[in-house]
Amino acid sequence: MLKVLKFGGSSMADAVQYAKVKAIVNADPSRRVVVVSAAGKRTKDDNKITDLLYLCHAHLQYNVACDGIYDLICSRYLEIRDKLGLKTDLEGEFAALRKKMDEGISQDELVSRGEYFSALLMADYLGYDFVDAAQWLQFNLDGTVNEEVSYEKLQHIAYGRSVVIPGFYGVMPDGTIKTFTRGGSDITGALAAAALDASVYENWTDVSGFLMADPKIVDDPRPIERITYSELRELSYIGAQVLHEGTIFPVREKNIPLNVRNTNQPDHPGTMIREEFEDTEMDESRFITGIAGRKNYTVISLVKKGLTSQIGLLRQILETLEKYNVQVEYLPSGIDYISLVMSTDKVSACLYQLMGELERKVKPDSLHVVDNMAIVAAVGRKMAFKPGISGKIFAALGKEGVNVRMIMQGVEEMNIIVGVENQDFASAIRVLYDSFVK
Ligand code: ASP
Repeated sequence: MLKVLKFGGSSMADAVQYAKVKAIVNADPSRRVVVVSAAGKRTKDDNKITDLLYLCHAHLQYNVACDGIYDLICSRYLEIRDKLGLKTDLEGEFAALRKKMDEGISQDELVSRGEYFSALLMADYLGYDFVDAAQWLQFNLDGTVNEEVSYEKLQHIAYGRSVVIPGFYGVMPDGTIKTFTRGGSDITGALAAAALDASVYENWTDVSGFLMADPKIVDDPRPIERITYSELRELSYIGAQVLHEGTIFPVREKNIPLNVRNTNQPDHPGTMIREEFEDTEMDESRFITGIAGRKNYTVISLVKKGLTSQIGLLRQILETLEKYNVQVEYLPSGIDYISLVMSTDKVSACLYQLMGELERKVKPDSLHVVDNMAIVAAVGRKMAFKPGISGKIFAALGKEGVNVRMIMQGVEEMNIIVGVENQDFASAIRVLYDSFVK
């Protein structure tokens, strides 16, 4: 059995956190592949090493000295090394990098060094082999990962070994370093787990798994113990802050469970994410897995008699949106109307041109915009089989005076989505939580 573990920035922030990581890894002999982030914040006002590296690069680009920032980066790693009593040759590494910075270094290569130094130190500390992501994680020219080649290389390199791998980056076909978008070490871990057919991908962070609702809105929300990949996708699409979006695909494809755990509370089981769960594993009384939402949607409401019976009309509407490169996120419709629900920030720049064009092409009976809308969703795979849930949701919202402006539910019935005004956003989330979870 082999487990792949990924530790995020807060788990790598200082020597005390390194010691926790070591205890976690040593507690289970199958924890043989460890992927690490760059050192994160030690306190609320501290710096993330990756942010400092981006800042260094910006200085270099404009010919401004960055020595002060570079020293902050180096001293953070030196402190960790010295406190742990390690002998890793960081001075040599730092000098080589400084030289490269003077000669010209790409942004991706420079910002990837946070993970690189973390992995060098952690490998030394755990007594595991350091395996550079540049040795196996290959990108295609279009920026996607070449999974076939990457997996084969890692299988070969990691075979029978215990290894530490830096997250966040890989190489382009010409060997230059390329990073994922921010937070991308999650993806490196998922790719390593998929490549090595891990029995589980443990993603260690500073929270004990996902919560059923945003703790900034709901006091002390319950943790989610189990969630399916599809539910997680729904929740993160709607706005829940979860893992980096590219994380799920590699592990889901191979049916590898993903377990989100807390380095600071290692005995907590965290959240388990799988393709499906047995009914016996489920808490029967709980048919809502999570509640999420997002503010600031713009809705274009188009009314035209016989809209859905006129072949081609919907296509014309969608083609117009495509022309302006605007993504519609939800599309509730009736016989004579359609509402186009879009993120305000994505549509605002072209809203009036878009409306003008819809007016010309579709000749609606009425066309108007509603701004400041929020979307709130209750997600749960069990909802489909439970009569009366939507009734309960609307009754609860009505009782609290939340005006529901839109209702959406797909045939899959994994979620019930309601549109409310921005000002009712937090109360809608609280009402749903209190009615279904408390
Ligand atoms: N260190 C990178 C970042 O801050 C990647 C990661 O931690 O996942 O975005």
